[in-house]
Amino acid sequence: MALDQSIIDRLTKIVGTENIFTEKEDLAAYAYDATSIWVHEPEVVVFPISTEQISDVMKLANAEKVPVTPRGGGTNVSGGSVPIEGGIVLCTARMNQIVEISKENMIAVVEPGVVLMNLNLALAAEGLMFPPDPQSFVGATMGGVVAENSGGPAGLKYGVTKHYVLGLEWVLPDGDVINIGATTTKNRTGYDLPQLFVGSEGTLGVMTKAILKLIPKPPAARTMAAVFGDVAEAGSLVFKVLQEGIVPGKIELLDNWVINRIEEMMPMGLPTDADAMLLFELDGAKEAVDRELGRVSEICKEHGADKIMVAADPEEAMKYWTARKAGFAAVFGKSPTTLAEDVTVPRDKIPDLIRKCKELEEETGITIVIIGHAGDGNLHPSILTDEDDAEHFKKAQDTMHAIFDAALEMGGVVSGEHGVGLEKKQFMEKAVSPRVLQIMKDIKKLLDPNGIMNPGKIWE
Ligand SMILES: Cc1cc2nc3c(=O)[nH]c(=O)nc-3n(C[C@H](O)[C@H](O)[C@H](O)COP(=O)(O)OP(=O)(O)OC[C@H]3O[C@@H](n4cnc5c(N)ncnc54)[C@H](O)[C@@H]3O)c2cc1C
Repeated sequence: MALDQSIIDRLTKIVGTENIFTEKEDLAAYAYDATSIWVHEPEVVVFPISTEQISDVMKLANAEKVPVTPRGGGTNVSGGSVPIEGGIVLCTARMNQIVEISKENMIAVVEPGVVLMNLNLALAAEGLMFPPDPQSFVGATMGGVVAENSGGPAGLKYGVTKHYVLGLEWVLPDGDVINIGATTTKNRTGYDLPQLFVGSEGTLGVMTKAILKLIPKPPAARTMAAVFGDVAEAGSLVFKVLQEGIVPGKIELLDNWVINRIEEMMPMGLPTDADAMLLFELDGAKEAVDRELGRVSEICKEHGADKIMVAADPEEAMKYWTARKAGFAAVFGKSPTTLAEDVTVPRDKIPDLIRKCKELEEETGITIVIIGHAGDGNLHPSILTDEDDAEHFKKAQDTMHAIFDAALEMGGVVSGEHGVGLEKKQFMEKAVSPRVLQIMKDIKKLLDPNGIMNPGKIWE
Protein backbone atom coordinates (compact mmCIF):
# COMPACT_ATOMS: atom_id res chain seq x y z
CA MET A 1 0.00 0.00 0.00
CA ALA A 2 1.51 3.35 -1.02
CA LEU A 3 0.65 6.24 1.26
CA ASP A 4 -0.85 9.31 -0.35
CA GLN A 5 1.76 12.12 -0.56
CA SER A 6 -0.70 14.44 1.19
CA ILE A 7 -0.60 12.18 4.27
CA ILE A 8 3.23 12.25 4.27
CA ASP A 9 3.07 16.05 3.98
CA ARG A 10 0.69 16.32 6.92
CA LEU A 11 2.87 13.97 9.00
CA THR A 12 5.90 16.12 8.13
CA LYS A 13 4.03 19.16 9.35
CA ILE A 14 3.26 17.44 12.66
CA VAL A 15 6.72 16.03 13.51
CA GLY A 16 9.05 18.23 11.43
CA THR A 17 11.33 17.20 8.55
CA GLU A 18 14.03 15.98 10.95
CA ASN A 19 11.68 13.42 12.51
CA ILE A 20 10.24 11.69 9.44
CA PHE A 21 11.86 9.11 7.14
CA THR A 22 10.65 7.71 3.83
CA GLU A 23 13.83 6.65 2.02
CA LYS A 24 14.09 2.99 1.05
CA GLU A 25 17.05 2.35 3.39
CA ASP A 26 15.18 3.92 6.31
CA LEU A 27 12.10 1.83 5.70
CA ALA A 28 14.20 -1.33 5.47
CA ALA A 29 15.75 -0.57 8.86
CA TYR A 30 12.29 -0.48 10.51
CA ALA A 31 10.95 -3.59 8.77
CA TYR A 32 12.04 -6.05 11.44
CA ASP A 33 12.60 -6.64 15.14
CA ALA A 34 14.58 -9.30 17.02
CA THR A 35 12.61 -12.20 15.54
CA SER A 36 14.16 -14.13 12.65
CA ILE A 37 11.22 -14.66 10.34
CA TRP A 38 9.00 -11.55 10.28
CA VAL A 39 9.91 -8.69 7.95
CA HIS A 40 7.66 -6.02 6.44
CA GLU A 41 8.45 -2.44 5.51
CA PRO A 42 6.36 0.54 6.60
CA GLU A 43 5.56 3.39 4.20
CA VAL A 44 6.91 5.98 6.60
CA VAL A 45 8.73 6.17 9.94
CA VAL A 46 8.06 9.04 12.35
CA PHE A 47 9.87 9.96 15.57
CA PRO A 48 7.49 12.27 17.46
CA ILE A 49 9.08 14.24 20.28
CA SER A 50 5.98 15.11 22.33
CA THR A 51 2.65 13.70 23.45
CA GLU A 52 0.90 16.37 21.37
CA GLN A 53 2.71 15.21 18.23
CA ILE A 54 1.74 11.59 18.91
CA SER A 55 -1.84 12.66 19.47
CA ASP A 56 -1.86 14.53 16.15
CA VAL A 57 -0.28 11.58 14.30
CA MET A 58 -2.94 9.25 15.73
CA LYS A 59 -5.78 11.65 14.84
CA LEU A 60 -4.54 11.76 11.26
CA ALA A 61 -3.96 8.00 11.02
CA ASN A 62 -7.38 7.27 12.51
CA ALA A 63 -9.17 9.64 10.13
CA GLU A 64 -7.34 8.20 7.11
CA LYS A 65 -7.42 4.61 8.43
CA VAL A 66 -3.65 4.18 8.13
CA PRO A 67 -2.04 1.38 10.22
CA VAL A 68 0.28 2.57 13.01
CA THR A 69 2.88 0.33 14.63
CA PRO A 70 4.50 1.74 17.77
CA ARG A 71 8.18 0.96 18.22
CA GLY A 72 10.84 1.50 20.85
CA GLY A 73 14.19 -0.29 20.62
CA GLY A 74 12.85 -3.01 18.30
CA THR A 75 14.29 -5.74 20.56
CA ASN A 76 11.09 -7.73 21.06
CA VAL A 77 11.05 -11.36 20.01
CA SER A 78 7.40 -11.81 19.03
CA GLY A 79 7.15 -9.73 15.84
CA GLY A 80 5.44 -6.98 17.87
CA SER A 81 7.05 -3.99 16.20
CA VAL A 82 7.10 -5.35 12.64
CA PRO A 83 4.64 -3.20 10.62
CA ILE A 84 3.09 -6.26 9.05
CA GLU A 85 0.37 -4.25 7.28
CA GLY A 86 2.65 -1.34 6.35
CA GLY A 87 1.61 2.23 7.14
CA ILE A 88 3.33 4.27 9.84
CA VAL A 89 6.02 3.12 12.24
CA LEU A 90 5.73 5.47 15.21
CA CYS A 91 8.99 5.26 17.11
CA THR A 92 8.99 6.78 20.60
CA ALA A 93 12.78 6.47 21.06
CA ARG A 94 13.39 10.23 20.90
CA MET A 95 11.11 10.91 23.89
CA ASN A 96 13.81 9.77 26.28
CA GLN A 97 13.61 11.94 29.38
CA ILE A 98 13.45 10.71 32.95
CA VAL A 99 10.93 13.31 34.06
CA GLU A 100 11.18 12.68 37.79
CA ILE A 101 12.80 10.45 40.38
CA SER A 102 11.26 10.84 43.82
CA LYS A 103 13.31 9.22 46.56
CA GLU A 104 10.67 10.06 49.17
CA ASN A 105 7.78 8.47 47.27
CA MET A 106 9.98 5.86 45.60
CA ILE A 107 8.55 6.54 42.17
CA ALA A 108 9.92 7.58 38.79
CA VAL A 109 8.11 9.23 35.90
CA VAL A 110 9.59 8.32 32.53
CA GLU A 111 9.03 8.99 28.87
CA PRO A 112 8.72 5.96 26.57
CA GLY A 113 12.13 6.29 24.90
CA VAL A 114 14.14 5.98 28.13
CA VAL A 115 16.42 2.96 27.75
CA LEU A 116 15.98 0.58 30.68
CA MET A 117 19.70 0.44 31.49
CA ASN A 118 19.88 4.25 31.62
CA LEU A 119 16.92 4.33 33.99
CA ASN A 120 18.54 1.84 36.35
CA LEU A 121 21.89 3.66 36.25
CA ALA A 122 20.12 6.89 37.25
CA LEU A 123 18.15 5.07 39.96
CA ALA A 124 21.24 3.31 41.34
CA ALA A 125 22.79 6.72 42.03
CA GLU A 126 19.82 7.32 44.36
CA GLY A 127 19.97 3.85 45.96
CA LEU A 128 16.82 2.78 44.08
CA MET A 129 15.91 0.23 41.44
CA PHE A 130 13.24 -0.76 38.92
CA PRO A 131 13.49 -4.56 39.18
CA PRO A 132 12.12 -5.98 35.88
CA ASP A 133 15.24 -6.87 33.92
CA PRO A 134 14.68 -8.12 30.37
CA GLN A 135 18.11 -9.24 29.23
CA SER A 136 17.88 -6.75 26.38
CA PHE A 137 18.09 -3.86 28.89
CA VAL A 138 20.90 -2.20 26.95
CA GLY A 139 18.50 -1.40 24.09
CA ALA A 140 14.96 -1.96 25.36
CA THR A 141 12.98 1.24 25.98
CA MET A 142 10.34 1.82 28.63
CA GLY A 143 7.57 2.03 26.00
CA GLY A 144 8.45 -1.49 24.85
CA VAL A 145 8.99 -2.74 28.41
CA VAL A 146 5.51 -1.54 29.43
CA ALA A 147 3.82 -2.67 26.20
CA GLU A 148 5.36 -6.15 26.52
CA ASN A 149 4.96 -6.38 30.32
CA SER A 150 8.59 -7.46 30.28
CA GLY A 151 10.15 -9.63 32.91
CA GLY A 152 13.52 -11.28 33.25
CA PRO A 153 15.64 -13.18 35.76
CA ALA A 154 14.43 -10.93 38.60
CA GLY A 155 10.83 -12.07 38.02
CA LEU A 156 11.25 -14.86 40.56
CA LYS A 157 11.58 -12.54 43.53
CA TYR A 158 10.39 -9.18 42.25
CA GLY A 159 7.73 -9.89 39.63
CA VAL A 160 7.36 -8.27 36.22
CA THR A 161 6.66 -4.82 34.81
CA LYS A 162 2.93 -4.83 35.65
CA HIS A 163 3.81 -4.96 39.33
CA TYR A 164 5.62 -1.62 39.01
CA VAL A 165 3.32 0.51 36.84
CA LEU A 166 1.24 2.87 38.97
CA GLY A 167 0.00 5.13 36.22
CA LEU A 168 0.24 6.00 32.56
CA GLU A 169 -0.18 8.87 30.15
CA TRP A 170 -1.57 7.16 27.07
CA VAL A 171 -2.58 8.26 23.59
CA LEU A 172 -5.61 6.31 22.40
CA PRO A 173 -5.93 5.17 18.77
CA ASP A 174 -8.25 8.14 18.05
CA GLY A 175 -5.61 10.57 19.35
CA ASP A 176 -7.25 11.38 22.71
CA VAL A 177 -4.78 11.61 25.59
CA ILE A 178 -5.74 9.98 28.88
CA ASN A 179 -4.09 9.86 32.29
CA ILE A 180 -4.81 6.73 34.30
CA GLY A 181 -3.63 5.54 37.70
CA ALA A 182 -1.83 7.79 40.18
CA THR A 183 1.48 8.32 41.95
CA THR A 184 0.20 6.55 45.05
CA THR A 185 1.05 2.90 45.64
CA LYS A 186 -2.57 2.17 46.56
CA ASN A 187 -5.41 3.20 44.28
CA ARG A 188 -8.86 1.65 44.19
CA THR A 189 -10.64 4.11 41.93
CA GLY A 190 -12.67 2.05 39.49
CA TYR A 191 -11.27 -0.52 37.11
CA ASP A 192 -7.49 -0.97 37.08
CA LEU A 193 -6.96 0.47 33.60
CA PRO A 194 -3.15 0.79 33.71
CA GLN A 195 -3.04 -3.00 34.00
CA LEU A 196 -5.12 -3.31 30.83
CA PHE A 197 -2.61 -1.27 28.85
CA VAL A 198 0.48 -2.93 30.31
CA GLY A 199 1.23 -5.84 27.98
CA SER A 200 -1.11 -4.58 25.23
CA GLU A 201 1.71 -4.92 22.67
CA GLY A 202 1.04 -1.64 20.89
CA THR A 203 -2.51 -2.68 19.96
CA LEU A 204 -4.42 -0.26 22.23
CA GLY A 205 -2.53 3.00 21.77
CA VAL A 206 0.77 4.62 22.62
CA MET A 207 2.42 5.06 25.99
CA THR A 208 3.78 8.56 26.39
CA LYS A 209 4.61 8.53 30.12
CA ALA A 210 4.73 5.96 32.89
CA ILE A 211 4.66 6.40 36.65
CA LEU A 212 6.78 3.58 38.07
CA LYS A 213 6.97 2.14 41.54
CA LEU A 214 10.58 1.66 42.70
CA ILE A 215 12.22 -0.33 45.46
CA PRO A 216 15.40 0.30 47.44
CA LYS A 217 18.41 -1.30 45.79
CA PRO A 218 19.36 -4.35 47.91
CA PRO A 219 22.55 -3.54 49.85
CA ALA A 220 24.26 -6.84 49.06
CA ALA A 221 24.18 -9.47 46.35
CA ARG A 222 26.21 -12.62 45.69
CA THR A 223 26.34 -14.95 42.72
CA MET A 224 26.99 -18.67 42.59
CA ALA A 225 26.76 -21.36 39.93
CA ALA A 226 25.95 -25.03 40.41
CA VAL A 227 26.87 -27.56 37.75
CA PHE A 228 24.76 -30.67 37.13
CA GLY A 229 25.11 -33.88 35.15
CA ASP A 230 21.40 -33.94 34.36
CA VAL A 231 19.49 -30.93 33.11
CA ALA A 232 16.10 -32.11 34.41
CA GLU A 233 17.63 -32.65 37.86
CA ALA A 234 18.90 -29.08 37.72
CA GLY A 235 15.34 -27.95 36.90
CA SER A 236 13.95 -29.70 39.96
CA LEU A 237 16.37 -27.84 42.22
CA VAL A 238 14.41 -24.62 41.81
CA PHE A 239 11.43 -25.53 43.94
CA LYS A 240 13.62 -27.37 46.43
CA VAL A 241 15.43 -24.10 47.17
CA LEU A 242 12.16 -22.17 47.48
CA GLN A 243 10.67 -24.83 49.75
CA GLU A 244 13.46 -24.05 52.22
CA GLY A 245 12.09 -20.52 52.54
CA ILE A 246 14.85 -18.95 50.44
CA VAL A 247 13.80 -16.74 47.55
CA PRO A 248 16.91 -15.97 45.49
CA GLY A 249 16.88 -12.77 43.43
CA LYS A 250 17.47 -14.87 40.32
CA ILE A 251 17.78 -18.52 39.27
CA GLU A 252 18.76 -19.04 35.65
CA LEU A 253 19.26 -22.32 33.80
CA LEU A 254 21.76 -22.91 31.00
CA ASP A 255 22.08 -26.24 29.21
CA ASN A 256 25.18 -27.93 27.80
CA TRP A 257 24.85 -26.26 24.38
CA VAL A 258 24.74 -22.79 25.95
CA ILE A 259 27.62 -23.53 28.35
CA ASN A 260 29.75 -24.54 25.35
CA ARG A 261 28.88 -21.41 23.37
CA ILE A 262 29.78 -19.25 26.38
CA GLU A 263 33.13 -20.99 26.72
CA GLU A 264 33.79 -20.37 23.01
CA MET A 265 32.95 -16.68 23.29
CA MET A 266 34.39 -15.86 26.71
CA PRO A 267 36.33 -18.75 28.29
CA MET A 268 35.73 -18.70 32.03
CA GLY A 269 36.40 -22.31 33.03
CA LEU A 270 32.84 -23.62 32.84
CA PRO A 271 32.77 -27.44 32.61
CA THR A 272 31.86 -28.04 28.97
CA ASP A 273 30.78 -31.62 29.65
CA ALA A 274 28.17 -30.53 32.24
CA ASP A 275 24.57 -31.16 31.21
CA ALA A 276 23.38 -27.95 32.87
CA MET A 277 24.27 -25.07 35.11
CA LEU A 278 22.07 -23.10 37.49
CA LEU A 279 23.11 -19.54 38.11
CA PHE A 280 21.87 -18.00 41.37
CA GLU A 281 21.89 -14.45 42.66
CA LEU A 282 21.02 -13.96 46.31
CA ASP A 283 20.32 -10.41 47.36
CA GLY A 284 19.30 -8.51 50.48
CA ALA A 285 21.04 -7.71 53.77
CA LYS A 286 24.66 -8.91 53.75
CA GLU A 287 24.34 -11.36 56.68
CA ALA A 288 21.20 -12.93 55.17
CA VAL A 289 22.81 -13.19 51.75
CA ASP A 290 25.90 -14.98 53.14
CA ARG A 291 23.75 -17.38 55.14
CA GLU A 292 21.43 -18.13 52.22
CA LEU A 293 24.34 -18.62 49.83
CA GLY A 294 25.74 -21.30 52.16
CA ARG A 295 22.40 -23.05 52.42
CA VAL A 296 21.72 -22.97 48.64
CA SER A 297 25.17 -24.50 48.04
CA GLU A 298 24.31 -27.30 50.47
CA ILE A 299 20.93 -27.94 48.84
CA CYS A 300 22.57 -28.12 45.41
CA LYS A 301 25.16 -30.62 46.68
CA GLU A 302 22.46 -32.68 48.42
CA HIS A 303 20.61 -32.92 45.10
CA GLY A 304 23.38 -33.97 42.76
CA ALA A 305 25.38 -30.84 41.91
CA ASP A 306 28.83 -31.90 40.67
CA LYS A 307 30.46 -28.57 41.33
CA ILE A 308 29.67 -25.24 43.01
CA MET A 309 31.38 -22.02 41.94
CA VAL A 310 30.95 -18.89 44.01
CA ALA A 311 31.83 -15.52 42.50
CA ALA A 312 34.51 -14.00 44.72
CA ASP A 313 33.52 -10.38 44.17
CA PRO A 314 31.09 -8.18 42.19
CA GLU A 315 33.46 -8.16 39.18
CA GLU A 316 33.44 -11.94 38.96
CA ALA A 317 29.67 -11.97 39.50
CA MET A 318 29.33 -9.55 36.59
CA LYS A 319 31.28 -12.01 34.43
CA TYR A 320 28.75 -14.76 35.17
CA TRP A 321 25.79 -12.52 34.35
CA THR A 322 27.45 -11.22 31.19
CA ALA A 323 27.95 -14.86 30.20
CA ARG A 324 24.27 -15.55 30.83
CA LYS A 325 23.32 -12.64 28.57
CA ALA A 326 25.81 -13.71 25.92
CA GLY A 327 24.36 -17.21 26.13
CA PHE A 328 20.95 -16.01 24.97
CA ALA A 329 22.51 -13.88 22.22
CA ALA A 330 24.47 -16.96 21.07
CA VAL A 331 21.21 -18.82 20.58
CA PHE A 332 20.34 -16.31 17.85
CA GLY A 333 23.79 -16.24 16.26
CA LYS A 334 24.43 -19.93 15.67
CA SER A 335 21.87 -20.84 13.04
CA PRO A 336 20.25 -19.02 10.10
CA THR A 337 16.85 -19.12 11.88
CA THR A 338 16.08 -19.49 15.56
CA LEU A 339 12.66 -20.14 17.04
CA ALA A 340 13.22 -18.75 20.53
CA GLU A 341 10.16 -19.31 22.66
CA ASP A 342 9.20 -18.55 26.22
CA VAL A 343 6.74 -21.12 27.48
CA THR A 344 6.11 -20.96 31.19
CA VAL A 345 4.99 -23.80 33.42
CA PRO A 346 4.24 -24.13 37.12
CA ARG A 347 7.59 -24.57 38.88
CA ASP A 348 7.02 -28.20 39.81
CA LYS A 349 6.65 -28.99 36.10
CA ILE A 350 10.04 -27.55 35.05
CA PRO A 351 11.75 -30.99 35.02
CA ASP A 352 8.84 -32.46 32.99
CA LEU A 353 9.08 -29.71 30.38
CA ILE A 354 12.84 -30.15 30.10
CA ARG A 355 12.44 -33.93 29.70
CA LYS A 356 9.80 -33.35 27.01
CA CYS A 357 12.21 -31.10 25.09
CA LYS A 358 14.94 -33.74 25.33
CA GLU A 359 12.54 -36.45 24.10
CA LEU A 360 11.50 -34.28 21.14
CA GLU A 361 15.14 -33.58 20.33
CA GLU A 362 15.87 -37.31 20.20
CA GLU A 363 12.75 -38.10 18.17
CA THR A 364 13.24 -35.38 15.56
CA GLY A 365 16.99 -34.85 15.45
CA ILE A 366 16.32 -31.10 15.74
CA THR A 367 18.56 -29.15 18.13
CA ILE A 368 16.58 -27.71 21.05
CA VAL A 369 18.60 -25.40 23.27
CA ILE A 370 17.35 -24.64 26.78
CA ILE A 371 18.12 -21.45 28.60
CA GLY A 372 15.82 -19.42 30.75
CA HIS A 373 14.42 -18.00 33.91
CA ALA A 374 14.06 -21.31 35.70
CA GLY A 375 13.21 -19.53 38.94
CA ASP A 376 9.73 -18.63 37.73
CA GLY A 377 9.17 -21.59 35.40
CA ASN A 378 9.80 -19.42 32.33
CA LEU A 379 12.07 -21.37 30.00
CA HIS A 380 13.27 -20.39 26.54
CA PRO A 381 13.45 -23.62 24.56
CA SER A 382 15.04 -22.44 21.33
CA ILE A 383 15.04 -24.41 18.13
CA LEU A 384 17.90 -23.98 15.68
CA THR A 385 16.73 -24.19 12.10
CA ASP A 386 16.87 -22.55 8.67
CA GLU A 387 13.75 -21.13 7.09
CA ASP A 388 15.26 -21.62 3.62
CA ASP A 389 15.33 -25.38 4.21
CA ALA A 390 11.58 -26.00 3.91
CA GLU A 391 11.65 -29.54 5.26
CA HIS A 392 13.78 -28.73 8.31
CA PHE A 393 11.83 -25.56 9.03
CA LYS A 394 8.48 -27.39 8.94
CA LYS A 395 9.84 -30.04 11.30
CA ALA A 396 11.18 -27.29 13.59
CA GLN A 397 7.80 -25.55 13.68
CA ASP A 398 5.99 -28.82 14.41
CA THR A 399 8.44 -29.50 17.22
CA MET A 400 7.83 -26.07 18.70
CA HIS A 401 4.08 -26.65 18.51
CA ALA A 402 4.57 -29.90 20.40
CA ILE A 403 6.43 -27.94 23.12
CA PHE A 404 3.55 -25.43 23.32
CA ASP A 405 1.02 -28.26 23.61
CA ALA A 406 3.07 -29.91 26.34
CA ALA A 407 3.34 -26.64 28.30
CA LEU A 408 -0.44 -26.08 28.06
CA GLU A 409 -1.12 -29.66 29.20
CA MET A 410 1.12 -29.01 32.21
CA GLY A 411 -1.02 -26.01 33.19
CA GLY A 412 1.40 -23.52 31.69
CA VAL A 413 1.14 -20.69 29.17
CA VAL A 414 2.58 -20.20 25.68
CA SER A 415 4.24 -16.91 26.57
CA GLY A 416 5.59 -15.82 29.93
CA GLU A 417 7.10 -12.53 28.80
CA HIS A 418 7.72 -12.19 25.06
CA GLY A 419 4.07 -11.61 24.19
CA VAL A 420 1.89 -12.94 21.40
CA GLY A 421 2.64 -10.53 18.54
CA LEU A 422 2.84 -12.45 15.27
CA GLU A 423 4.69 -15.42 16.71
CA LYS A 424 1.99 -16.97 18.83
CA LYS A 425 -1.32 -15.65 17.55
CA GLN A 426 -2.16 -19.03 16.05
CA PHE A 427 -2.17 -20.42 19.59
CA MET A 428 -4.57 -17.91 21.10
CA GLU A 429 -7.60 -20.12 20.47
CA LYS A 430 -5.93 -23.05 22.16
CA ALA A 431 -4.60 -21.02 25.05
CA VAL A 432 -7.66 -18.86 25.87
CA SER A 433 -11.34 -19.83 26.04
CA PRO A 434 -13.71 -18.48 23.32
CA ARG A 435 -15.58 -16.17 25.75
CA VAL A 436 -12.36 -14.69 27.10
CA LEU A 437 -11.00 -14.25 23.58
CA GLN A 438 -14.21 -12.43 22.64
CA ILE A 439 -13.88 -10.09 25.65
CA MET A 440 -10.35 -9.24 24.54
CA LYS A 441 -11.50 -8.60 20.97
CA ASP A 442 -14.39 -6.44 22.24
CA ILE A 443 -11.96 -4.30 24.26
CA LYS A 444 -9.82 -3.87 21.15
CA LYS A 445 -12.89 -2.91 19.08
CA LEU A 446 -14.05 -0.41 21.72
CA LEU A 447 -10.71 1.39 21.85
CA ASP A 448 -9.68 0.97 18.23
CA PRO A 449 -12.84 0.64 16.12
CA ASN A 450 -10.94 1.28 12.89
CA GLY A 451 -8.37 -1.39 13.70
CA ILE A 452 -5.42 0.87 12.90
CA MET A 453 -3.33 0.17 16.00
CA ASN A 454 -0.63 -2.42 15.31
CA PRO A 455 -2.97 -4.47 13.11
CA GLY A 456 -2.32 -8.15 12.49
CA LYS A 457 -1.02 -8.78 16.02
CA ILE A 458 -2.30 -11.07 18.78
CA TRP A 459 -5.34 -12.41 16.84
CA GLU A 460 -5.60 -14.19 13.50
C1 LIG B 1 18.77 -10.78 23.60
C2 LIG B 1 17.37 -10.51 24.10
C3 LIG B 1 17.03 -10.81 25.40
C4 LIG B 1 15.72 -10.57 25.86
N1 LIG B 1 15.41 -10.89 27.15
C5 LIG B 1 14.17 -10.66 27.60
C6 LIG B 1 13.83 -11.01 28.94
O1 LIG B 1 14.65 -11.52 29.71
N2 LIG B 1 12.57 -10.76 29.35
C7 LIG B 1 11.62 -10.19 28.53
O2 LIG B 1 10.50 -9.96 28.98
N3 LIG B 1 11.92 -9.86 27.26
C8 LIG B 1 13.15 -10.07 26.77
N4 LIG B 1 13.46 -9.74 25.48
C9 LIG B 1 12.40 -9.15 24.64
C10 LIG B 1 12.42 -7.60 24.53
O3 LIG B 1 13.69 -7.10 24.64
C11 LIG B 1 11.49 -6.90 25.47
O4 LIG B 1 10.17 -7.23 25.15
C12 LIG B 1 11.64 -5.36 25.49
O5 LIG B 1 10.98 -4.88 26.60
C13 LIG B 1 11.12 -4.65 24.26
O6 LIG B 1 11.46 -3.26 24.34
P1 LIG B 1 11.69 -2.40 23.01
O7 LIG B 1 11.87 -0.98 23.38
O8 LIG B 1 12.77 -2.99 22.20
O9 LIG B 1 10.27 -2.58 22.29
P2 LIG B 1 9.97 -2.90 20.78
O10 LIG B 1 10.56 -4.20 20.40
O11 LIG B 1 10.26 -1.74 19.94
O12 LIG B 1 8.38 -3.06 20.85
C14 LIG B 1 7.80 -4.09 21.59
C15 LIG B 1 6.27 -3.95 21.55
O13 LIG B 1 5.89 -2.79 22.26
C16 LIG B 1 5.16 -1.90 21.43
N5 LIG B 1 5.60 -0.55 21.81
C17 LIG B 1 6.86 -0.04 21.77
N6 LIG B 1 6.85 1.22 22.24
C18 LIG B 1 5.57 1.50 22.58
C19 LIG B 1 4.92 2.64 23.12
N7 LIG B 1 5.59 3.76 23.40
N8 LIG B 1 3.59 2.58 23.34
C20 LIG B 1 2.87 1.45 23.06
N9 LIG B 1 3.44 0.35 22.55
C21 LIG B 1 4.77 0.38 22.32
C22 LIG B 1 5.49 -2.31 20.00
O14 LIG B 1 4.43 -2.03 19.12
C23 LIG B 1 5.71 -3.80 20.15
O15 LIG B 1 4.48 -4.47 20.08
C24 LIG B 1 14.75 -10.00 24.99
C25 LIG B 1 15.11 -9.69 23.67
C26 LIG B 1 16.39 -9.96 23.22
C27 LIG B 1 16.71 -9.63 21.80
